[in-house]
Amino acid sequence: PSSVSSSVPPLPSLADPADPGLAELHAENISAWFGDHQVLDRVTLTMRPGQVTALIGPSGCGKSTFLRILNRMHELVPSASLAGEVLLDGQDIYDPTKKLTDARKHIGMVFQKPNPFPAMSIYDNVIAGLKLAGIRADRDTKDELVQSCLSKAGLWNEVKDRLRAPGGGLSGGQQQRLCIARSLAVKPRVLLMDEPCSALDPTSTRVIEETMAELQKEVTIVIVTHNMQQAQRVSQECAFFLAARGTPGAIVEHGDTEAMFSEPQDQRTYDYVNGRF
Ligand code: ADP
Ligand code: MG
Repeated sequence: PSSVSSSVPPLPSLADPADPGLAELHAENISAWFGDHQVLDRVTLTMRPGQVTALIGPSGCGKSTFLRILNRMHELVPSASLAGEVLLDGQDIYDPTKKLTDARKHIGMVFQKPNPFPAMSIYDNVIAGLKLAGIRADRDTKDELVQSCLSKAGLWNEVKDRLRAPGGGLSGGQQQRLCIARSLAVKPRVLLMDEPCSALDPTSTRVIEETMAELQKEVTIVIVTHNMQQAQRVSQECAFFLAARGTPGAIVEHGDTEAMFSEPQDQRTYDYVNGRF
């Protein structure tokens, strides 16, 4: 029965075989505990290739914990434990035969408070993660990488004449963009951002939002935000987390961002996105 299809020659692949393309991150039935306190209950979410997925919900509902689980960062907390799976393009990032640095290398993270190495130069901050990720680069390659990462982070024009100045001398918004540049240097396939603009002024926030729109063409982005306007501006998909009194955090509703804001399916989502709690 396969005679017809076997006579059709395969289409030539236009894709660069070295370029893995945009990644899909999938969390399956994630439950999480700190000691015996359960903080997440069976969270399942697909973060689609090249999209920005926004995680929204009140404080304490487990958004940061979930984000950290997506790149095994929660393992830094000794009391943390986990059930469920995280798949990067179908590959289990918790596979015990794989190195932790591999998961971290492919899945970068930016935090609420910008945390560049303050005494280190802007240039060295950008390439600070290379060694740990096992990436070797000569001087010219590093120069190119620094320029491209700072450009992608929307910072190049502001710092190109002072790459040797310390990262700590930049404004808060610039420091955050430096952290974005640093996370991009190892060519992550997913970028996790935990309230990246909460500590920033509106102008820096706008620059970072513009940057994200470009970045999502090459990296799948997940952002936690308390700013409902920001969620609508930057994301295509949205997940609403809630921890109702005494229960662990869970997803109440998720899907297309515009639909979730214009016609939420759950009364609790409606109340939250309209600022009722
Ligand atoms: P969100 O980011 O949505 O505000 P978190 O993920 O930070 O929520 O917190 C979820 C729950 O987990 C909260 O009850 C919080 O107190 C608890 N929690 C977070 N981090 C830790 C930790 N390192 N040790 C113990 N409990 C924690
Ligand atoms: Mg948080």
